[in-house]
Amino acid sequence: MQFIDLAAQQARIAPRLAEAMRQVLAEGRYIGGPQVAELEQRLAAYVGRRFCIACASGTDALILPLLAMGVGPGDAVFVPDFTFFATAEAVAAVGAVPVFVDVRPDTYNMDPDDLRRKIEAVRAAGELTPRAVIPVDLFGQPADYTALLPLAAQYGLRVIEDAAQGFGGTWQGRKACAFGDVSATSFFPAKPLGCYGDGGAMFTDDPALDALLRSLRVHGSDPADKYNNLRVGRNSRLDTLQAAVLLCKLEVFSDELAARHAAAARYDQLLGPLAGIPAVAPGATSSYAQYTLRLPQPARRPAVIAALREQGVPAMVYYPRPLHAQTAFAGAPDYGPCPVAEAAAAAVLSVPMHPYLTPADQTAVGRALAAALA
Ligand SMILES: *Cc1c(COP(=O)(O)O)cnc(C)c1O
Repeated sequence: MQFIDLAAQQARIAPRLAEAMRQVLAEGRYIGGPQVAELEQRLAAYVGRRFCIACASGTDALILPLLAMGVGPGDAVFVPDFTFFATAEAVAAVGAVPVFVDVRPDTYNMDPDDLRRKIEAVRAAGELTPRAVIPVDLFGQPADYTALLPLAAQYGLRVIEDAAQGFGGTWQGRKACAFGDVSATSFFPAKPLGCYGDGGAMFTDDPALDALLRSLRVHGSDPADKYNNLRVGRNSRLDTLQAAVLLCKLEVFSDELAARHAAAARYDQLLGPLAGIPAVAPGATSSYAQYTLRLPQPARRPAVIAALREQGVPAMVYYPRPLHAQTAFAGAPDYGPCPVAEAAAAAVLSVPMHPYLTPADQTAVGRALAAALA
């Protein structure tokens, strides 16, 4: 059994995919081909935003809006302590300081109460200027934007939604990638909507930010004059082949999302008696980028993983180390602890999750987990 079965998905879309890639090769517009603009339009319509700007990775989709907002040295950007490294790496990459915010014990998403505490702590210390917050839609479930957006507004913070895992999830009827000043997503192959390489996209409703992000992704270019550069930017485009792949995958995305929800419901039944199952907040839906369990006895996790693997069930730990404990951030200023993130990092375990998971596979996961925990 695969942890994420990309081969099954590829087999399903193979004829369409071959034709779409052949067309890109025939047209020869490998960068900036018409498929990129078409993808941007479709993605913006899907998530309900005015603008979509494709780029080279999910990490760049976080860095470019920080650059566009002028976030840099002397600035504090609030990120959840329990997420993939890139959320905070993007902040450090523009010279700003990531400030780690604890998460909620049920959804593992940013805790608005701790965000307020951390903002107050930064203000009291007086060394950094609070500028932005990057909530993460962890494992596919959007963060609590009902609480986070007003809090950010109260303190004058810009909001960047890290929806690298969230694409396809919803919060109170709105789709992930629709929250904050800019939303960022990733098309890394294992994400809910993945391409066959690196890729990412940014979303916004603000025409000024849209223009700035389009310029920044191509060396700070001037749309009116190809050989004039208005500012220093990056080289961060989504290439045409990847856009063609994504257009094919987008056609089956809704169907795949339904399959993920069905698989998650089956897991809830099978695994609920054995371990903590993912908590989805009222009014939210998850895209189940991961199906993450919480083990009753965290200390036994290495033995449980070994026992599962012996029975042919791949299991992964996302994430074993909170961001504040990353070596790269050893010198970062400390604005208070994140005990919930620490406890989560010690207890979580993700099991195979993808749209092509069969009920038989899931029964096998349930049996293997029961045996591993016994
Ligand atoms: C994957 C991921 C990223 C980075 O995306 P890349 O496309 O790999 O650069 C950022 N944030 C989160 C939460 C992620 O899961």
